[in-house]
Amino acid sequence: MPELDDPIPISALQHAVYCMRQAALIHIERLWEENRFTAEGRVLHDVTDEPSDHRRHDVRRVTSMQLVCRRLNLAGVADVVEFRSAPGGDVAFPVEYKRGKTKLHRADEVQLCAQALCLEEMTGREVSEGALFYAQTRRRVPVSFDAELRRLTEDTAREFGALRAAGRTPAATWRAARCNACSLIDLCRPKAAAKSALRFRSRAIDTALSAGAADDEW
Ligand code: SF4
Repeated sequence: MPELDDPIPISALQHAVYCMRQAALIHIERLWEENRFTAEGRVLHDVTDEPSDHRRHDVRRVTSMQLVCRRLNLAGVADVVEFRSAPGGDVAFPVEYKRGKTKLHRADEVQLCAQALCLEEMTGREVSEGALFYAQTRRRVPVSFDAELRRLTEDTAREFGALRAAGRTPAATWRAARCNACSLIDLCRPKAAAKSALRFRSRAIDTALSAGAADDEW
């Protein structure tokens, strides 16, 4: 498998879709805080972390498979890749294990799509579908790698790559549902940042108004 020079971890794209600041704090500033959600995810991944490769009937199943994509400078590890028999050779079908249940945001789908893009480059065959397995519902949710998901995945990879090259961490933006579930909330302190941004804006408005008042007097 080709070695890449300082590739972007596929997991960074999942973080970047959730919040670009979170991705920068983890992958640029190297900060990490474990919370209940991340701990559950880590325990779940222990199930598939053992590398294995075996065939049953028409499906070869590989766990903990190393992936790379030169085009997007990505690298990572797939929980499970099934290689399914098809005319012309086996076709890859990635399966990623997740805690919880289906999310409203597309972070999990982007991570899976990034795996598919790696597999396409590595095998030379189109990968059109994969699945997310959620521990809470114990269901496989099929994911189709359509044009929109591919575009979101590639745009996220390029945007995060540019941020990393610049060594820049975006400012915090407070969004209750997202930030309350974020493992980095205590380090990030998005409410404090939101308050200081509000204070800054209010001071700027006061300054502009008093300048306007001075102009009027003149
Ligand atoms: S607390 Fe909110 S703004 Fe800060 S990293 Fe997490 S999701 Fe992003």
